[in-house]
Amino acid sequence: MSLAMAWTDVDLDAPGRQVGLIRVEHSVHRSAYGTIPVPLAVFANGLGPTLLLMAGSHGDEYEGQLALARLIRTIDVERINGRILVLPAANQPAVIEGSRISPLDGGNLNRSFGDSHIDTPTGRIAAFITQELIGRCDAVLDLHSGGSSLNHLPCSYADLGTDKAMAQKTFAALEAMNAPLSWAQFGCPAGSVAGRAVVRKGAMHLSGEFGGGGHLGADALEVAERCVYRLLDHLGILNMEDRWRTEISTRFVSNVQDDFVYAPREGVFEPLARLGETVEVGQLAGYLHAPERPLEPPLELHFASRGIVSVIRAMGRSRSGDCLFQLLGEIERGEILRSIETMA
Ligand SMILES: [Zn+2]
Repeated sequence: MSLAMAWTDVDLDAPGRQVGLIRVEHSVHRSAYGTIPVPLAVFANGLGPTLLLMAGSHGDEYEGQLALARLIRTIDVERINGRILVLPAANQPAVIEGSRISPLDGGNLNRSFGDSHIDTPTGRIAAFITQELIGRCDAVLDLHSGGSSLNHLPCSYADLGTDKAMAQKTFAALEAMNAPLSWAQFGCPAGSVAGRAVVRKGAMHLSGEFGGGGHLGADALEVAERCVYRLLDHLGILNMEDRWRTEISTRFVSNVQDDFVYAPREGVFEPLARLGETVEVGQLAGYLHAPERPLEPPLELHFASRGIVSVIRAMGRSRSGDCLFQLLGEIERGEILRSIETMA
């Protein structure tokens, strides 16, 4: 038999509690037969559905990593009905580095789920996740944040896809997570993000942006854990503890291209809006300053759409093309349900 480029010591289909590794072949000067050890846990009991919980796709997004590591340490496999696959540090080299991308190959794991996988460490991890994990799943919850460069208002996220029955199931799961902000996106995600691979495999794709700015936020961590445990309860895999049962009010949102404000040139970014604030079309968003040319007045930036400020760039010095703001447009629950109803 041929040897694989990525393999695991965990039996993905066995019952019980297993905490092991995916080993990804990585041959370098200091370690000719070396591997990248990506932690993987599997908890299986009973006949319920399979959920993949994933974090650390970007190494500088910490809430999901901590939430899933804590779940691995504390979960009681006897209480579950179904199977939970857990990747708390999916792009392990990026997690160790505290970096969005892998220091080994510059790979962005959440841009590595295209139709074919590049034969790099990051590409091999993406190929293993797609072929061995996503293919076994009914649902995936991929936990993100804004990372080092963006502050993100904590929110849950769902790709509703284009199939009516799947969209109904997915929206029900999004609603069950009951985050303060619930982001429902229509259609199938473009590009090579994990969501596209999940939707194409016929599984439910759920995600979330829990904080950012390159640090761990306690409030954002609480929202991430709330989403994890409420989703496990909703899927019938694990009854949630009482602390997660209290319903909070949520706002449903969605995203269009005009919701982004990009830097038109380089400079120091001064935001004038705050996370969570609702802004209007044409409203002054902030300034770009050029302190190296002190006589030059700052450049005014304006919002091109109305919405809730969900993202603000966390770094001052910016270059042309950097995302400075993202808005999310509020949408009525009934409007989402009506749009789903029109699907085939
Ligand atoms: Zn991310």
